[in-house]
Amino acid sequence: MELTVARNAGFCFGVEKAVSAVYEAVGQKNRIYTYGPIIHNETVVEDLTRRGVGVIHSLEEVDRLAAESAESGEKITIVIRSHGVSEDVISHIQKSGLSVIDTTCPFVSRIHQLVEDASKKGSQIVIIGNAGHPEVVGTMGWSHEPAAVIGTAEEAEHWDGDLSRPVLVVAQTTFNTDKFQELVAILQRRAYNIAVVNTICNATRMRQQEARRVAAQSDVMIVIGGKSSSNSAKLYEICRKECRDTYFIQTVKDLPERDFSTLRVGITAGASTPKNIIEEVQNYVRTGRREF
Ligand code: SF4
Repeated sequence: MELTVARNAGFCFGVEKAVSAVYEAVGQKNRIYTYGPIIHNETVVEDLTRRGVGVIHSLEEVDRLAAESAESGEKITIVIRSHGVSEDVISHIQKSGLSVIDTTCPFVSRIHQLVEDASKKGSQIVIIGNAGHPEVVGTMGWSHEPAAVIGTAEEAEHWDGDLSRPVLVVAQTTFNTDKFQELVAILQRRAYNIAVVNTICNATRMRQQEARRVAAQSDVMIVIGGKSSSNSAKLYEICRKECRDTYFIQTVKDLPERDFSTLRVGITAGASTPKNIIEEVQNYVRTGRREF
């Protein structure tokens, strides 16, 4: 059997930094909450829950915690995850009196800055990405006028922006590079005054290239990632094109009983997959034994 694990499978630097910040904060006196799950990985989120870290999803919950803290004197910290949040959300939390640990990835902060500056100067903002993805929602919140989100060729064809005004196009950091180029080409055909900044992060680009390369030379490909992780879903999409026999799993438990001993097997993992989960899958493929 030949087993190839993609070199850049697993946590990227932004996720690593965010997750470590929460684990470090756990040892301190404050009660800790993350604003949304810290990463799209149930195993990590469950582990943090066991250590007393809560998850909140709204500013109403921030206000409730601020009131509790004011009444009891107990210190509470809110952690902003690597996806970042809108300007409204961060300033609301900062004003609430609760402590904040902001682990927004610097690559995401750069997009916020681009969007804020360009929209202030009168550009329309187009984000190539998945509507509803937390990073995209956060980025939209830095534009001084409503930003458009485009995720498909059809949406690019029908975008109803003002074609006579300047446009700034940016990307969700984990978007598929080929698809980004395809959608940008459509927009460039339609609008003249268009500035494009490819903000897909290098970690994502390299992960996708490597996944494609490994999948193309494998009989079976295994993509490990959370069900709600969009970068993992994209890795699956890329690998499936190169290797029909591709699994998309969260942990080793999701793999069927199968003898991999005569096959060329490739493994990659999304940015929110911890190392130990990748190692468990590797061990199972090599030995046929699952260790939980
Ligand atoms: Fe930062 Fe890139 Fe990781 Fe997103 S994928 S958290 S932008 S390093």
